[in-house]
Amino acid sequence: MPTTDYIERVVNLHIHTVHSDGSGTVPEIAEAASEAGVEVLIVTDHNVYRPEEEGWYGEVLVLVGEELNDPVHPHRNHLLVLGAEDDLATHAATLQEAIAAAKRAGALPFIAHPIEHSGARANEPEINWEDRDVTGLHGVELWNYMSEFKSYIHTVLHGLLYAYLPSLAIRGPYPETLRLWDAMLTDGPCWAVAGSDAHASLYRLGPLRRRILSYRYLFSAVNTHLLLTEGWSGDVRRDRVSVYEALAAGRAFVGYDLAAPTRGARFVGERGEKGCTFGGTLSGGKEARLSVDLPAPASIRLLRNGVPVAEATGSRLDYAAGEPGVYRVEARRRFRGRSVGWVFGNPIIVT
Ligand SMILES: [Zn+2]
Ligand SMILES: [Zn+2]
Repeated sequence: MPTTDYIERVVNLHIHTVHSDGSGTVPEIAEAASEAGVEVLIVTDHNVYRPEEEGWYGEVLVLVGEELNDPVHPHRNHLLVLGAEDDLATHAATLQEAIAAAKRAGALPFIAHPIEHSGARANEPEINWEDRDVTGLHGVELWNYMSEFKSYIHTVLHGLLYAYLPSLAIRGPYPETLRLWDAMLTDGPCWAVAGSDAHASLYRLGPLRRRILSYRYLFSAVNTHLLLTEGWSGDVRRDRVSVYEALAAGRAFVGYDLAAPTRGARFVGERGEKGCTFGGTLSGGKEARLSVDLPAPASIRLLRNGVPVAEATGSRLDYAAGEPGVYRVEARRRFRGRSVGWVFGNPIIVT
């Protein structure tokens, strides 16, 4: 379809509810999404799957996924499984088996928070992707807000400051996670998503008791924006298919909407009569034209196979791609006194 005809939906995925270690019920979380302008939620409780909670909550479509982890060794290899129609917790003991079970169920397995750092006073374990030699992943959680947040809690003072003003801490995906993603892309399509990892937990630090990173706050921050081929039908089954079809195709970008709204960010490739967007492939002999359009000025970089090939300051970048490769775009903006990650788009593959 023409690249201008897609319908953009703001999605927040990787969310915990009262059914695992989150503090909100699904109706409460949907209300927070509605206030923040998020249109689709995918809740992902730990080894818990409650499909009966899927549905429309006002204007918000709530879908139910699952975050799988080995119940015996819970602090490694977390896997987001999106789009399964079954509880896959019985396959959670090994990462490869969890991925295989997700694929058999027609679902999309994404490795969650692949690289973690925990500040000395965060009192949180580092949950890394340890079993790297697995196959069959659909993609990677490039940016996890909660995971990044805890990396900055080095002292009690940081804890106090960021409990009240979390946006002072957040900067973007770790450079090593971006390098990991680029390396994964050399083996074939690997689609990025962002997760809030929302729990809205009660945070205790000495006398301080504060519910930090509320659902409402996180839904206004980092989201995954999907480009759908059709508008809502109102039918949960059909609209669910439409969301997962875009996620399967990688027709998505990650946006830090708190730094400035990212709705409308586009990355388009054209070669002769053919056109595509995030997640697309352009084949054929002629030179491919790539263009980036952003809803506000930023520092834009276009990378080919992980190496920058073009930069621009502003809201547009055009590039003639004479060589095949995996082309992806990233943009940064000034926010709260520093340069922060703003838009990270899934690649266009030029063959
Ligand atoms: Zn996790
Ligand atoms: Zn989680």
